Amino acid sequence: MINNKKSKILFNEAQKFLPGGVNSPVRSFKAVGGTPHFIKRGKGAFIYDEDDNKLLDFTGSWGPLILGHSISKIKNNIKKAIDQGTSFGTPTLRETELAKLIIRSMPSIEKIRFVNSGTEATMSAVRLARGYTGKEIIIKFEGCYHGHADMFLSNAGSGLATFDQPTSPGVPKSIVESTITLNFNDLDAVKKAFKNNKNKIAAIIVEPITGNMSVIKPEIEFLSGLKKITESNNSILIFDEVMTGFRVSRGGAQEIYNLKPDLTALGKIIGGGLPVGAYGGKKSIMSYVSPEGPVYQAGTLSGNPVSMSAGIATINELQNDKIYSHLEKVSKFLCNGLIRVSKLYNIPLKINQFGSMVGIFFSKNEVKNFQDITKNHINTYNQLHKFLLENNIYFPPSAYEGLFISHAHKQKHMKHVIKTFEEFIKHNKK
Ligand SMILES: *Cc1c(COP(=O)(O)O)cnc(C)c1O
Repeated sequence: MINNKKSKILFNEAQKFLPGGVNSPVRSFKAVGGTPHFIKRGKGAFIYDEDDNKLLDFTGSWGPLILGHSISKIKNNIKKAIDQGTSFGTPTLRETELAKLIIRSMPSIEKIRFVNSGTEATMSAVRLARGYTGKEIIIKFEGCYHGHADMFLSNAGSGLATFDQPTSPGVPKSIVESTITLNFNDLDAVKKAFKNNKNKIAAIIVEPITGNMSVIKPEIEFLSGLKKITESNNSILIFDEVMTGFRVSRGGAQEIYNLKPDLTALGKIIGGGLPVGAYGGKKSIMSYVSPEGPVYQAGTLSGNPVSMSAGIATINELQNDKIYSHLEKVSKFLCNGLIRVSKLYNIPLKINQFGSMVGIFFSKNEVKNFQDITKNHINTYNQLHKFLLENNIYFPPSAYEGLFISHAHKQKHMKHVIKTFEEFIKHNKK
């Protein structure tokens, strides 16, 4: 058994002062059971907890840390920025520098606005889409996560309900009545929604490759269909690439699928481990953002030099193609190993992998949408999570999360995971 004594004491203490002891729910381990580890430092592919356990990390702070933990080049750039002051509320050089770096990698973005989180990015992109089109309804897909703004915290409710229902207390019904939630990969449902709501749909927002119902692959016709239908209905297509941007490839999912959305939401990697979000797209649409245009959106710390410096250092490093080929190689190595073990022991396993994003499903069938994720998968994943943690491997504490692999992960680390996975399967078969 891994010693988790200090973390248990610290978690008890934290629970007295923070709701659930955390500042973001998934960290609480409520989904998988057990006590969350308090982490005091990270280095490369590893994090170290307060009990001095060394854990091989597969969350990368939930996506941002594609280069690994505590990377000197990023830290040095942050230090340089901090030495000059942390925020001025004025234009600063680094904002233009990071804007240029992002725009060079994502040609669909001609202008960009920096905000402080992915949540801010998606909600501002939707406001812009509504302001630009003069329409109100948005379409999203079940299992996609776009942050915690009111309009996204809804589902389709019972089959009889025409409008979305709130999924959290505190979300007004009136807000989510303008949200339509459909099944991922179901283009026919999208067509129907457009037919039933003629000239009322402002935007479709989608994770083009999902990362928040673990990793699910879009059908090509689905994504290109979304592009076509928004185009022909004067609606806006928003790709939420907060997770996939600079991760599945430098140019995100839109590069892989060769599709240009009207607007893109970014976050995570472009902040290099500090709080950042951004939304950008066509000049003609972005010119509707205040002060150029009428759609209001602002932020005291938006584009602050410290966050920008971390983003710049990260994106500069990512100019090296070898980073992406390494990520692909070690991720594939891991996936192939897990599949090999699953076949050996006749365990149903499906894996979706895009570069350093890996979704593992204990399932006989391909997983194509939220409904395909079974209870059996969740139960088995939770057991796996526990077993791996006992062996110093830190998988995301939720069956709905993918693995996020970093450049610091090496083949030898993956061998260790595959071996431990085999022990788990043997142990479970007994
Ligand atoms: C993480 C994430 C968000 C929310 O970003 P925050 O910085 O946590 O607010 C939005 N969309 C996607 C796809 C994400 O992965």
